[in-house]
Amino acid sequence: SRLPVRRALISVSDKTGLAELGRALTDQGVQILSTGGTAQALRAAGVAVTEVADVTGYPEMMDGRVRTLHPAVHGGLLALRDNPGHVADMQAYGIEGIDLLVSNLYPFEAVLEKGASIDDCIENIDIGGPAMTRAAAKNHAHVAVVVDLEDYAPLLAQIAEGGTTAAFRRQLAQIAFARTAAYDTAVSTWLAGVTGGDQPPRRRAFAGTLAQPLRYGENPHQTAAFYRSAHARTGVATARQWQGKELSYNNINDTDAAYELVADFAAADGPACAIIKHANPCGVARGATPAEAYARAFDCDRTSAFGGIVALNRPLDGPTAEEIVQIFTEVVIAPDADEAARAVFARKPNLRLLTAGGLPDPTAAGDVLRQVAGGYLVQSRDAGRISRDDLRIVTQVQPTAAQLDDLLFAWTVAKHVKSNAIVYARDLATVGIGAGQMSRIDSTRIGRRKAEDMAAALGLDAPLTEGAVVASDAFFPFADGVEALAEAGAVAVIQPGGSMRDAEVIAAADRLGLAMVFTGQRHFRH
Ligand code: 5GP
Repeated sequence: SRLPVRRALISVSDKTGLAELGRALTDQGVQILSTGGTAQALRAAGVAVTEVADVTGYPEMMDGRVRTLHPAVHGGLLALRDNPGHVADMQAYGIEGIDLLVSNLYPFEAVLEKGASIDDCIENIDIGGPAMTRAAAKNHAHVAVVVDLEDYAPLLAQIAEGGTTAAFRRQLAQIAFARTAAYDTAVSTWLAGVTGGDQPPRRRAFAGTLAQPLRYGENPHQTAAFYRSAHARTGVATARQWQGKELSYNNINDTDAAYELVADFAAADGPACAIIKHANPCGVARGATPAEAYARAFDCDRTSAFGGIVALNRPLDGPTAEEIVQIFTEVVIAPDADEAARAVFARKPNLRLLTAGGLPDPTAAGDVLRQVAGGYLVQSRDAGRISRDDLRIVTQVQPTAAQLDDLLFAWTVAKHVKSNAIVYARDLATVGIGAGQMSRIDSTRIGRRKAEDMAAALGLDAPLTEGAVVASDAFFPFADGVEALAEAGAVAVIQPGGSMRDAEVIAAADRLGLAMVFTGQRHFRH
C-alpha cells in the first residue's frame, strides 16, 4: 500500500531542480514547509510555502546554526503514526506529521575543496540537515527522505501513483544514511589534517565523493564506481583527461599502479617510464630522455606491452609521444604533456591521455583499504624507502658502484610488483620480471624466460639476464632461488634478508661468486 504525501519539508543548499520539484508537489496538493533560503527560492518560482520558523515559533537564529532543531520538526519526522502514545504526544504538543523530507546538506566537501579557511569550513558543517535526514531515514516506515537530486523524478512518479511504497522509502533511507555517514567522515578526515595528528587507521574514517560512475567493474557483470577521497593525493583521481574513451575500472586501477611506480623515481633520478599490464609492470626504465626511458622499458617485454598503460615521471614531449603511438596503448599518464605530444596523441583518438599536474609524494601518509568477507582491512601505504646507507653487504664479493645503482633501481621496481616478485635489471632498465607467483623460484624462472624470449626477438647473442642484478621483494627461504639466479647469469642480488636460512643463502651466493646486499625491509604486495 502506498503512503500519500500530504506535508513535505524541503531544506536544500543545492537548489538545482527545486522550482520544478516544488511546483510538481504543489500540483499534487502537497503542503510545503521550508527553511529561509529554500522558501525564498520557492516563492520566487511561484510556489506557496510555509516557513519552518512559523511552525516552530522561533526565528532562525545564531547565523542559521539553529533553525530546524525543534520538536515541531523532529517530532513530525520521528512520530510513529500507528503508535497511540506517539499520536497522543503529537496532539498534546500540537505537532503535525511530516511525510516527506527533501534535504541536501551545506556543501562542506565543496567548500573544503576550494581551500576555505578553517572558520569557513566549520561554519559549513551542517547540523540540522543531517539530524533531520537521520530522523526521517530512521522513520522510513512513515516518512520518505530524498537527499539525492537523482531521486526527485522517481519520487514524483511515486507520488503521482498515489504515494510512496515501503520498498522505495527503505531504499531512500539507505541512501540517506550513506550520505550522512560520508558527510561526517569528510569532516573527520579534514579535522585529522587540521590537528596534524597522524591517527592510526582504527581512529580514522574513510569517505569520498563520487568521481565517476563506471560502466562496469573488473568484469562486465560487475557494477562499479570511482570515488575520490576527501583529501585526494595527486594521481589518477585528480588527473585531467585530454582525450580518449572513458576510463574503465581496470584502466583506473592499472593507471594508478603505473603512476605510483614512476613517482618512486625522484627528480634526481631523471626520466623514468613504466609500462603496466594487469597492475604489474612489464617494463620499467630510466633514460637520458623520456623517449629513451620509454623505449628501454618497452624493450623489456614488447609482447606484454601491447595494450598497456604507460606512465612517465616527466612531462610528455613530441618524440616520446611518437614512440608510444607505435603500438596500441590504452592509457598514458604523466605530470604534463606539451602541445607537440598532444598533437601526436590526437591522431590516436582511442588513447586516453591523462596529465596529473605533478607527481604524488611517494613518502606521503595514506591508507590502503581491502575488503574481506564481512569486513575490511586498513593499512598505511607502503611508503617504505631505502637508500644506499641502509644496505648491508653480506657476501665476500662487493657490488660495484654501477651495480649498486642497478640494485636500488630493481628494488624500487620490485616494490610495485605483485609478490612473489623477482626483478632482473641492467643499466637502470628491467630486463626480466617474474610477478605474482606462489613460489619465489617460479618467479625467478619466469623472469629469466622472459629475458630469453626478448633476446630471441631482438636477435641478441645472450639474454640480458647475463650480468644483470636481481631484486627479490622478500627473503629467499632456501638457497635454490639464489642458485637459479646465478644460473641465469645474474651477478648481484638485493633482498630484505631475515630468513632462518640466511646463512645457507649467503654461503650459496659466496660459492657462486654473487654479490648480495640486505635491505632489512620487505615489500610484499598482494
Ligand atoms: P536554506 O537555503 O533553506 O536557508 O538552508 C538550507 C540548508 O540548511 C540545508 O542544507 C539544510 O541541511 C540546512 N539546515 C536546516 N536546518 C538546519 C539547522 O538547524 N542547523 C544548521 N546548521 N543547518 C540547517
